[in-house]
Amino acid sequence: PAPSAQGILDGLDPEQRAAAETPGGPLLIVAGPGTGKTRTVTRRIAHLVAERGVPAERFLAITFTRRAAEELAERLADLLGPAAARITVATFHRLGLLILREQHERAGLSPAFGIADTARQLEVAAEVAGSEREGRRLLALRDRAEDAPAEAAPALAAYEARLRELDLVDFTGLVALPVRLLEEDPELAAAYRARWPWVSVDEYQDVDERQYALLRMLTGPEANVTAIGDPDQAIYGFRGADVGFFLRFTADYPGAATVRLSRNYRSNATIVTAAAQAIAPASLVPGRELRAVGDFLDPPRIGVHAAADERAEASFVARAIDRLLGGTSWHSLDSGRVTEDGDGGLSFSDICVLYRTDAQSQAIMSAFNTAGVPYQKRSHDRLLARPGVRALAAELPHRAGETVADRVRAAVEALCERHAADADAAADLRTAGELVLPLARQCGADLAEFLSALALGAEVDALDPRADRVALLTLHAAKGLEFPVVFLVGCEDGLLPHGLPGAAPDDTDEAEERRLFFVGMTRAQQRLYLSRARRRTRRGAAADAAPSVFLEAIDPALTMPVDEESAARRRPRDRQMRLL
Ligand code: ATP
Ligand code: MG
Repeated sequence: PAPSAQGILDGLDPEQRAAAETPGGPLLIVAGPGTGKTRTVTRRIAHLVAERGVPAERFLAITFTRRAAEELAERLADLLGPAAARITVATFHRLGLLILREQHERAGLSPAFGIADTARQLEVAAEVAGSEREGRRLLALRDRAEDAPAEAAPALAAYEARLRELDLVDFTGLVALPVRLLEEDPELAAAYRARWPWVSVDEYQDVDERQYALLRMLTGPEANVTAIGDPDQAIYGFRGADVGFFLRFTADYPGAATVRLSRNYRSNATIVTAAAQAIAPASLVPGRELRAVGDFLDPPRIGVHAAADERAEASFVARAIDRLLGGTSWHSLDSGRVTEDGDGGLSFSDICVLYRTDAQSQAIMSAFNTAGVPYQKRSHDRLLARPGVRALAAELPHRAGETVADRVRAAVEALCERHAADADAAADLRTAGELVLPLARQCGADLAEFLSALALGAEVDALDPRADRVALLTLHAAKGLEFPVVFLVGCEDGLLPHGLPGAAPDDTDEAEERRLFFVGMTRAQQRLYLSRARRRTRRGAAADAAPSVFLEAIDPALTMPVDEESAARRRPRDRQMRLL
């Protein structure tokens, strides 16, 4: 039986409740991190279904990652029971795939068309363009959100025609093709609009031009469309996302209601204040208001640490984690009081380490391996960008098994045996298996479904919140997530903001980097550590590293240097022995 409708909006504050209860029509929810945007839109959907009589199948909820989609589906199932399964929850790519599967004939595809991953795309482009180099150029043109130059049109058309011949769609096509079909046939567009008269999009600040076009095709100017987001968390500009679409929502949908949320439920007051200071120089939200709630009477300060080099930084993180989990933390030692984690209430999965570039994870992983800290590492890259996952996908058709998960396990074993002599390759394959298994389990025996999920999935989709491991994530992958304890490492000039040593990034890049820093800081609930190395080896060359300019915006009264030596001296002897 469906849970009682009573209480769906009970867990919301008055601002959030007002947003959730806003009747139909276009609605923009613009609010800072941790203000409950995702929570509010979840409750809004449940409220409309359970208490306003909107049929569940009339809802389309679009999320940024597959993981976010799964989480949303779970929350809705908690609130609505079985009816939740009738709500379409999807990423833009998944939505495009759904439409294309239904309209495959119009697109010149078979019902079982495949998805070309990056490697396959390059093969096809190279074949059409005559060389790999030309192929890369062709793909770069194709990925550009704006129209490619007219001279490129024949080559692009040839590439697309070849994909069709091969019964393939690439990532770009997954969104671009449905847009074309809907543009060409207003009746088809009307049919989809009638099917989903209620649409919501989370993380709207990061839509790109094609996704935006798809949304516009699916929603008229007066549609019941809810866009949720925070312009100050726009971090995918490098990939073609354009925060401009967020900023012009009320012009695109005249008569749109705008709701602002200002209470941050996620982070303690120190973190909220410091994050607001950090974003202020580049904020896209005039008069941004963000205040912490919750009973953090005397929240700990933000720990800052400057290590000699990246190895020292990594071992600082490993030891800090050991102390956080082992009992009394540095902060409580320093202030003479026992804080919320003093009773050992934290576990590894409460902690994450965030970094700007994937390469930084090497030092962290080796320190964690030495210290015995369990971890799971994820980036925002596509799963299939990993050689291990690609090898696994290629091996699957040759493996028998009742379910996809069985086949995955058999494929990992077979491949590991084949690469027994190469420990790195075997480790990579095991990681690949671990990454794809939770996905695989959901697909039952449907291999085609699994392969398209694999093609669409990002690594972060495979982040397992139930595994008791520290999460190692790129800043981009951390969007929308939260952790009690966050270590943001590599707060250095050249890394964050990212750029070549000595080369000044241009203003737009620097603003996006600052937003990335802001996203990172605001993932933390109770404890935030900002660390850096004084000297770092990048691409094989060691160089001195200056502190990130972003640190300068934070009031020093909110931070506290975390000095390893002084902390170590105060620790009991036996623990020191174990730790050092
Ligand atoms: P982000 O911008 O990072 O995506 P968000 O605005 O989507 O953040 P949520 O993830 O929805 O924020 O909420 C942040 C945290 O605050 C979650 O743990 C959520 O459960 C909690 N929260 C939000 N609103 C309330 C509330 N009214 N009462 C208690 N907890 C709340
Ligand atoms: Mg959110």
